Amino acid sequence: MADEKLSIQRKMCSEVKTNRTVYREPENPVRWAFNQLLRSHDKTKKIYPIDPYAEVYQFRDNLYCIYTESLDGMGDVWSFLILGPEKALLIDTSFGLGNLKGLCEMLAGDREIILANTHAHYDHAYGNFPFGKAYCSEYEVPLLTSKKDPHIWDYLFDENGRGKWCDFDRADLVKFQDYEIIGVPDGYKFDLGQGYEIELFQMGGHSPGHAGFLDKQNRIFFPGDDACIGALGVGGTPAEFDPCHKATVTELRNNLLRIIARRDDFDALFPSHGLIDLGPIVLTSIVEACDRVIADPEHPTEIREINRNGAVRKQYCQYIYQSGYLTYNLDHI
Ligand SMILES: [Zn+2]
Repeated sequence: MADEKLSIQRKMCSEVKTNRTVYREPENPVRWAFNQLLRSHDKTKKIYPIDPYAEVYQFRDNLYCIYTESLDGMGDVWSFLILGPEKALLIDTSFGLGNLKGLCEMLAGDREIILANTHAHYDHAYGNFPFGKAYCSEYEVPLLTSKKDPHIWDYLFDENGRGKWCDFDRADLVKFQDYEIIGVPDGYKFDLGQGYEIELFQMGGHSPGHAGFLDKQNRIFFPGDDACIGALGVGGTPAEFDPCHKATVTELRNNLLRIIARRDDFDALFPSHGLIDLGPIVLTSIVEACDRVIADPEHPTEIREINRNGAVRKQYCQYIYQSGYLTYNLDHI
């Protein structure tokens, strides 16, 4: 049985202000190698004084990829800032540690910043509060609304107020305040000016209203957590936040097929964890893994017992060709 306190990972050299101490998932060789090379050697990497918790990489002329370390022992997180002619789109806000808003305003110049979330989880939307307004898929609104709670960060700390999985200064978390959540339908287009549009794809799977974003100008698709290399998790959302039952392997498969049908519009994938700037073939491999799950959900490649916050449960793992594995449970096929 995997004990969440016993995962050992090699230290990553970086000057960000966070200090990861305890890992809840095993080191992933492919992700580790990618991160090590990127974080040690990439020539575009910058850490700005305005936000010492973020590493900023420039993967395209108008695309900043913002890397923040996980605060809860899981995978480090990518947020993305796309600069259009008149406005900028920020995809996700990580855990809400540091001054992401100030950093984005600095990078975006005088452009208005539009915030959109791939989904509502800890590591993608807890930094939404200072932005005043966030867009998401219409199916993610109940889950994102449930995160409007000043106690969302409490789980990160032990009884002495120290970070359980990462050392950081609690005073550097964003201030809780109300903000507007705008749910939009599949195909919604964010207008960045002069015809530069980013299209939202409804992609239930990892969460009920998970969204991907298509940037046709850069020929990039941002699949969020629905196409991560290493590990890809489906389901787990309580039924009250998933009334349409969208966080399933079948939904993921069907949505990926819709994206693959638009393959002429993009050449690269930028997922929210691990490797980015990937070839789109990954999407087909994930569809094949979903097909194997749907055909025989009770007999995956591997069944693991995992310990999450003291509760032991079974995790079903189906391997994904050239990638990693898809994890799921039998209630979300
Ligand atoms: Zn995530």
